[in-house]
Amino acid sequence: MLKNDQLDQWDREAFFHPSTHLAQHARGESPNRIVTGGNGVYIEDRDGNRLLDAFAGLYCVNVGYGRTEIADAIAEQARELAYYHAYVGHGTEASITLAKMIVDRAPENMSKVYFGLGGSDANETNVKLIWYYNNILGRPEKKKIISRWRGYHGSGLMTGSLTGLELFHKKFDLPLAQVVHTEAPYYYRRPDLAMSEEQFTAHCVAELEALIEREGADTIAAFIGEPVLGTGGIVPPPAGYWAAIQKVLRKHDILLVADEVVTGFGRLGSMFGSIHYDMEPDLITIAKGLTSAYAPLSGSIVGKKMWEVLERGTDEYGPIGHGWTYSAHPIGAAAGIANLELVDKLGLVKNAGETGAYFVNAMRDAIGAHAHVGEVRGEGMLCAVEFVKERENRQFFDASEKIGPQMAAALLEQGVIGRAMPQGDILGFAPPLCLTREEADRIVDATAKAVKTVFKD
Ligand code: PLP
Repeated sequence: MLKNDQLDQWDREAFFHPSTHLAQHARGESPNRIVTGGNGVYIEDRDGNRLLDAFAGLYCVNVGYGRTEIADAIAEQARELAYYHAYVGHGTEASITLAKMIVDRAPENMSKVYFGLGGSDANETNVKLIWYYNNILGRPEKKKIISRWRGYHGSGLMTGSLTGLELFHKKFDLPLAQVVHTEAPYYYRRPDLAMSEEQFTAHCVAELEALIEREGADTIAAFIGEPVLGTGGIVPPPAGYWAAIQKVLRKHDILLVADEVVTGFGRLGSMFGSIHYDMEPDLITIAKGLTSAYAPLSGSIVGKKMWEVLERGTDEYGPIGHGWTYSAHPIGAAAGIANLELVDKLGLVKNAGETGAYFVNAMRDAIGAHAHVGEVRGEGMLCAVEFVKERENRQFFDASEKIGPQMAAALLEQGVIGRAMPQGDILGFAPPLCLTREEADRIVDATAKAVKTVFKD
């Protein structure tokens, strides 16, 4: 085995880390944790630390680490057939079986799955399918996509544009012109504190209608949203939000894309966020929980209404010109099958709802009344703590104080991994769905201690 210093040197010499402060990393100022193993909700690193991963990697290791059932399925598939493509009607038993398992679990009006590799490429696929759809329907001007501020949909050219976080636009010449953003359904940060949740929902709807009016409904193709905002701060929607938004979309013949990269396959305590919130999307984006990250795999689930038009399009214009070499990769598909079987067998959707609610309540009980805790919020196995300088007026800390990163670092000192969300002083949690109440207590305890440390109580 290589020595730590050697790896450290090679890392700084050769490895371009995503979403990293490159200069600080090169100077050795950012962490350089080399992860070596994992079991259940714990990971281990080369320095011998055993850490409770309360963010499941990047909210993706839903079944937890070290599941030999999935490892065995991957190995067996690799031995039998490591690869064959899915172009011009080809397939493998694994990819066809997984497609059927996904459609069987998806909301009723869903029809087919297009497989990709990650959430970003799946959303790129969605936008292309939406444009194709409107071209086939003879309305080539209906192309813009509405996304929300604080939404996260990936970091490609189009998906980075859809993402409504400044960090992902800055110095990349994004967003592209075909994307327009509307208000985030972020009740804690509502413009008027006197607003009820219902009034705030009405406000978000009014903002959306005003945007559609300004742009012209005949130029807008689709609206994309995560059932619960994830990377933008883990923000569940206010009461009645999705029903009210969908009413507007239907009125203007605007498609709905539910980006379920985080919420798909159980995280909210329902198989899909669309089911949880009674959404009727035309497209659903899936990734992360599809394989619990044991292999890279994503998908666009296409609804019946769109599917009929896509089929018609190919009769008119020939095969659809969209495909990746690794679409429906059999190793990813084998991982997906074993993963979904495990989700069912272990009752993880139910556990996400029940233990998730226990976890969020315990967090609220432990620190909710602290002078610098503005809000503890969550849904299913997602939880966020938002820190503020003053509770009364919800004043932000100065960004230079880096309260979020300080909190994540103090938590790490207690052996627990949380995530400082990229915008605002928000500490996020998205543990594996197999979390137990004892493990939830440990995260809560560690967070309470971290709060004491950072605010020097
Ligand atoms: N959509 C959502 C809701 C996400 O949270 C993410 C990633 O965190 C993506 C899309 C992009 O997925 P990927 O990083 O696999 O490209």
